[in-house]
Amino acid sequence: MSPAVLFIGGMDSSGGAGLMRDCATAQALGATARSAVTAVTAQSDRAVSALHPVPEDIVAAQIAAAADTGADPVAAIKVGMLGSAGITRAVARTLARHLPDVPLVLDPVLCASSGRALIDAEGIAAMLPLLVPRATLLTPNLPELRALCAPLGLPGETGEAEICAALLDLGCGAVLVKGGHAPQGPTSEDRLYQRGYDLHRLSSARYPVALRGTGCQLASAVAVHLAGGRALPAAVAKAKEMLDQRFRAAATRGDGDPCAPQVA
Ligand code: PLP
Repeated sequence: MSPAVLFIGGMDSSGGAGLMRDCATAQALGATARSAVTAVTAQSDRAVSALHPVPEDIVAAQIAAAADTGADPVAAIKVGMLGSAGITRAVARTLARHLPDVPLVLDPVLCASSGRALIDAEGIAAMLPLLVPRATLLTPNLPELRALCAPLGLPGETGEAEICAALLDLGCGAVLVKGGHAPQGPTSEDRLYQRGYDLHRLSSARYPVALRGTGCQLASAVAVHLAGGRALPAAVAKAKEMLDQRFRAAATRGDGDPCAPQVA
């Protein structure tokens, strides 16, 4: 039996990120992928040229059908690009009805590496009360964490630990802050904040290559490992191993995605 994971997010026509990256990650780890598309994007590695949100009732119908499919129950959920407040509300409502207790990894996707916003301010404001409390793990990168300050009612210069405490106060199980956007150095550090536990630091080598869809891949891999029954810190560590292998392989070959930033 392979665990089933439901991926909720956007289609990226370049194949670099979004649901295609999620499904490839699940397949590589031996999990079954189910999907609900929130938005169709036309994008290359250089630009997002079009963005078409899927109607809210169709997003809800996909989630309901995915929850009601196949022999294996959905054992984890990963939520990526939501696109709008309406879709965020539809996702929260439908998950509460069909998959209320399933572990959920929420990647608060705000924009593509090429720059275009993938959700508006109203959508971010809806995500905080509706999906953050439902999340087992939230996986912001540093700019995403900073962008959550205003909707959380915190000053822009609030420290990382305080922002994470506010997110944990909303009810999410843990916050993994991805440090790839920090100033360059030989290593990159992610930090896992969990209420009642010491801060857990995960350091990895930084490679001189640019890759797309790394945030999607990390969150998806964590969801797959949670579906397989691993505890959260072990699921995060295994997911980071997978990313490290992808970076190392790309650095060895000397390739990468030309327009993605030099970060994880
Ligand atoms: N496009 C879609 C549909 C995504 O879901 C994401 C991230 O989750 C991105 C783009 C951003 O990926 P990248 O940072 O590689 O551009």
